[in-house]
Amino acid sequence: MTLVDTHCHLDDSKFDEDREQAIERALAAGVTRLMAIGTGNGPPDLEVAVRLADRYPFVYATIGVHPHDASKATAETFDRLRELAGHPKVLAIGEIGLDYHYDFSPRDVQLSVFERQLALAADTKKLVVIHTREAWDDTLAAVASLPHGGVMHCFTGDAAQARQALDRGFHLSFGGVLTFPKAEALREAARLAPDDRILVETDCPYLAPVPHRGKRNEPAFVVDTVRRLAEVRGTTPEKIAELTTRNFEALCLR
Ligand SMILES: [Zn+2]
Ligand SMILES: [Zn+2]
Repeated sequence: MTLVDTHCHLDDSKFDEDREQAIERALAAGVTRLMAIGTGNGPPDLEVAVRLADRYPFVYATIGVHPHDASKATAETFDRLRELAGHPKVLAIGEIGLDYHYDFSPRDVQLSVFERQLALAADTKKLVVIHTREAWDDTLAAVASLPHGGVMHCFTGDAAQARQALDRGFHLSFGGVLTFPKAEALREAARLAPDDRILVETDCPYLAPVPHRGKRNEPAFVVDTVRRLAEVRGTTPEKIAELTTRNFEALCLR
């Protein structure tokens, strides 16, 4: 099986003790490519993923300001993001979006920082990786302006929301939540998504799938989500691996 973890926070301090070993375990598990998310602890450091992508040939990067950190963005932040978008291994602007669960930044600031990054993505023809929590309608309204799709990361919506995202041209990326006992509505959504619009991710170090739930997550554990997704869709893990790898290549390595 050859897999891609399309969303991991490899820069997180929870990997400081064993980052190399976690990457080795991923490769041993068949996770041969990783998309490192570049939001880190927010501006001014926008290069946490770029540094990893420069170091490892199989690691790709995103750049962006997470909604949690929207208050830290300045004029320089957007200038620097525009420069970094030209880096050959930067595949997307993300994770960007709205988070009304935590509200770590005021909602109007979240929205304006999100909109500026969507405009940057449109200008630079970069994909977007969307984070949305308890902000579905505002998120959908904001991405309506985008001429192309992207990734709904850690998609946890139901069938109706899945259809809305698919209609807007988005891919749905499934993570550990898919394996949680209570996630039946999400599994229904995962059942209806077309073969060519699904991706898998860990969002490590967060949201470890069953049977690792509650522990630190790492890229190798994407295999457990792949197994569950295969059960849900009535197919084999090998087939899910093949589809999601092909989808990553078609979407992100165009
Ligand atoms: Zn997120
Ligand atoms: Zn994330």
